Amino acid sequence: MLLFRWRGVPVVADRLFVLLATGWLGMQAWRDGAVGLVSGLAGVALLFGSVLAHEFGHAMVAQRFRVRVRQITLNVFGGVTLFERAGLTPRVDLFVSLGGPIASLVLSGLCAILAAVTGSTLLALVAAANLALGVFNMVPAFPLDGGRVLRALLELRLGVLRGSLIALRVGTVLAWVMLAGAVVMREPGLGVVAVLLLMMQRQERARLASMVEVAWR
Ligand SMILES: [Zn+2]
Repeated sequence: MLLFRWRGVPVVADRLFVLLATGWLGMQAWRDGAVGLVSGLAGVALLFGSVLAHEFGHAMVAQRFRVRVRQITLNVFGGVTLFERAGLTPRVDLFVSLGGPIASLVLSGLCAILAAVTGSTLLALVAAANLALGVFNMVPAFPLDGGRVLRALLELRLGVLRGSLIALRVGTVLAWVMLAGAVVMREPGLGVVAVLLLMMQRQERARLASMVEVAWR
């Protein structure tokens, strides 16, 4: 579902996200009436405003380097920015990957200052959420932003194939550590993230394997 378009980038919400958000808002309205609906809408707007700021952080850096941004998708896990591969060299990828976390950290800092000035707990909460978003994404587990930064740095030193493979290996170890941590601490949310990372890493491994095959021919 197309929500809006900004700087030529369509922002789309995926179906499951729309369904869950509407369902959750409906529950809020049913339980607490208009107050519940308004506070629910404000919560969704703040949360996804933060995710959008992060994704546009990536998108705007990409556009600076003349990499075409195809779309930003909001989903239940947050957001994804899709780029055209053309022009996305390791050096550009490094800056584009840093763009999102930097946007989150800047927004967190601004909200923290505003929270201190106004004494607003809501702003303090948004500051904390953005800090978490920025820091978590910098974990060097591909395909998180930190993993892409690591990959770009390794690619610059070791070449695309070797750099990608090593970054992927580091990411896989970290994902297994996360999964073990999720089991030990009984954190199902972290467990889901770890499994998703492992699944996406598997896809990336298959893509790299096909690159090796092409290189061998
Ligand atoms: Zn990001």
